[in-house]
Formats: sequence, C-alpha cells, structure tokens
Amino acid sequence: MSTGMQKTQYDMAVEQFQKAADIMKLDPNVQEILRKPRRILSINFPVKMDDGRILLYSGFRSQHNNALGPYKGGIRFHPNVTIDEVKALSMWMTWKCAVAGIPFGGAKGGVTVNPKGLSKPELERLSRTFFSMISEIVGPFRDIPAPDVYTDSQTMAWFMDEYSKNDRNNPFAVVTGKPLIIGGSLGRDSATGRGVSVSVEEAARHLKMNLKNCTCAIQGWGNVGSWAHKFVEEAGVKVVAVSDSKGGAHKHSGLPYHEVLAHKQKTGNVLNFPGSQPITNEELLELDVDILIPAALEDVITANNAKKIKAKLVAEGANGPTAPEADDILFRNKVTLVPDILANSGGVSTSYLEWVQNLQHLYWSAEEVDHRLKAIMVNAFAEVWKTTQKHNVDMRTGAYIYAIGKVTDAMKIRGWV
Ligand code: NAD
Repeated sequence: MSTGMQKTQYDMAVEQFQKAADIMKLDPNVQEILRKPRRILSINFPVKMDDGRILLYSGFRSQHNNALGPYKGGIRFHPNVTIDEVKALSMWMTWKCAVAGIPFGGAKGGVTVNPKGLSKPELERLSRTFFSMISEIVGPFRDIPAPDVYTDSQTMAWFMDEYSKNDRNNPFAVVTGKPLIIGGSLGRDSATGRGVSVSVEEAARHLKMNLKNCTCAIQGWGNVGSWAHKFVEEAGVKVVAVSDSKGGAHKHSGLPYHEVLAHKQKTGNVLNFPGSQPITNEELLELDVDILIPAALEDVITANNAKKIKAKLVAEGANGPTAPEADDILFRNKVTLVPDILANSGGVSTSYLEWVQNLQHLYWSAEEVDHRLKAIMVNAFAEVWKTTQKHNVDMRTGAYIYAIGKVTDAMKIRGWV
C-alpha cells in the first residue's frame, strides 16, 4: 500500500488483477509485466494566468500495455488527480479495451487542477501546454487520448489543434471525443450511457428479470448517468432516484427522464424535483430498488455499506465505484455486479468507431454508430458472462480473466514472454 493504511486506487487495481491472475494460474512472467504500467510521463508545466502570474501544474500520462494495439484512454482535469490514480485508470483501460474487443491498449492521463477555477483562456493555455508536453508519446497510431472527468469536446479540439502544429496533416485521429465539425462521431455523447443500458438489458435477460417490473436508482446525473437514465427508461425500467453532487431526489412513482432533464436545465441540479423526497448520495445506494447504477465517483460501495445494498443488479457507470472487499460481499449476497470495464466500455468503443471514421475519412450515421456499438457491447457481455459461469466467479473477476487472457495471448504471440 502506498499511503499509510489508506489503499490507493492503484492498490485496488493491482488487487483485482491479482485475484484473477491467481484463479487463472497466470504465468508469473506475464504477471510481472502486467502489474505495472510500461511508461509513466510525469510533468510539471507553467501556465500564464490572466493576471500575469505563472502557476506550475502537475500532469501525467500513464501507458499501461499496448499488446493489443495503440494506447487509448481519457485525460481528466481534477484537483484530486494523482499519479497513482492515473496508473490505476490506465491499467483498467487495458482490460476495458480487451473486454470490448477493440484493438487498443490501456492508457490514462490527468492534470491536478480545478478547471472550474480557471477562465476559458487560462484553461485553453493549460490544455494546449499539457498536450504539447505529452505529444512526444501520443499520436494516431501510438496513443489516442479522449475526454474524461472535467474535460470535453472543446478540450479535445484544443489538443488536436495543438498536435497539428507539428503534424500538418490535420491529424483528427490523435484524439477522440472531438466536436462533430472536426472529426467527432455521432453518438459519442450518449455512448457510455447507452452501453450501460445494454449491459443492464443483457444482464436482465440472463437473470430472467423483467425490466418492465424493475425500479432503478442512479447516482450521478452527469453525462453517463443521465444518458443511462434515458436508455434504461426506454427499455421499460422505472427510475425512482437520481442524484448529483448537491444531493438526490427520490420518488416512488418514478422520475421521467425528460422531466428530470428539464428540471436540471432550469435549476442546475436534480434536487427538489417536483413531488420528490430529498435523499443523500449514501441513502440512494441503499434504496430498495432492483437496479443500481453508480455513475459518479470512485469507491462509493465499500465494506461498510455493501451488505446494505438491496439492488439485485449493479451496473457500474463510473470507474472504480466498488472496493474489492465490497465485491466479495455483493457476490456472497447474490448481487450481480456488471463491472466498469464492461458496463461503461461503450464510451471507448465509440471512441474506437470515431478513430476508424477519422482514418477512413468516411462518416457514419447515428444509427450506424449505435448499431455497431450495440453489437460490440452484446458480444463483450456474452464473452464475460461465459467466462464468469465457467470459473464460477463474480463478473468483475470473469471480465478480468477474459481480458487478461486476451492480453496474454497477444504478448505471447508477439514474443514478449
Ligand atoms: P460528469 O462530470 O458528466 O458527471 C458526474 C456526475 O456526478 C455529475 O452529475 C456530478 O454532479 C455528480 N457528482 C459529483 N460528485 C458527486 C457526489 N459526491 N455524489 C454524487 N454525485 C456526484 O462525468 P461523467 O463523464 O458522467 O463520468 C462519471 C463517471 O463515469 C466517472 O467515473 C468517469 O470516469 C466514468 N466514465 C465516463 C465515461 C464517459 O464517456 N463520459 C466513460 C467511461 C467511464
């Protein structure tokens, strides 16, 4: 453990890996390679503020493994970004791409900054400088970043433009999650939420749950949570609780997606939705619902509250919302948990579709993108389910065994081990 008694996310990521590696009796040489990222670039870079001061920011890019293809992974701007977090997220990306069956390896980046405290010109200077400093290790066939927490299509536009100062060929494929006008893909905004919903639908089919009789709580009504709400509702589920950083709203008769959207647009959050009861983010997780979608933060389902989770199905929209001890408790309690590396892989899968469109200079309709995304998710779910049943393990371990197996095969056939 890296910091006193507190487990870091990287400790968690290694623990999850080790659990699967032990079950698979994974070749120790492969384990040795996969436990750590292959390369971590750590930089301190100056940004000029509007008032003339220079502030130094820390940023990271971690490249975990590229046996299956070029590195791929988001970049987050957040005050809590640490090198350990970025390392963990890069490792999860390796497994996520392998589970989805897309030809990428795993990477992640981040800058320790509160972007809400910066003006737009300051944010642009920070984004461009950071990207220029990691440009030596990124590229359309080397490492392809994407948006993550508090970065968006505008950030990707600045990144791509900065990169194009050295590569004059309009290198759209260097980042994904771009605005449509400069090589973005239709369907990217809703992709992760759509994928979460496909996971819920596939899990329900295997578990013989009739979605038309199911209720659902969603923690985090941001990009992932709000789109997941729309799509699970379309599949027949009644969403009865939603939340954001300000708190939550609970209503037995249901919270229709379009009404929550209108309320959030009007008031800025989901609190005080007409006719709802206020609920804390902690209470939301323990509600008596059939389906729970954590779509906000890491480490919210822990050894302390896992036994109080009443949902039969948990689909992880967020990355890393469940601690390893909580996984064991949920499995013992027969709660099916669709892990992040499967449930939220719709985002990176549509990033892959964007990259393909950029490389072939041929752009697809929203229907075409959605159709391809669904096929990727359904196939990934089926493979993970099969592996999970075969080894009689929880779905996270099943997903790890499946992903690690693929990465190992690629490493062996390349001659790395
Ligand atoms: P977002 O910023 O759009 O939304 C986050 C939401 O969580 C917001 O509604 C925010 O108010 C809420 N929130 C913040 N603090 C909270 C708290 N303490 N309790 C409850 N809610 C809180 O971000 P996003 O893109 O939706 O990402 C959410 C999670 O999904 C992250 O873990 C991210 O890594 C993961 N993820 C996102 C994508 C994607 O395509 N956007 C893909 C894969 C995984």
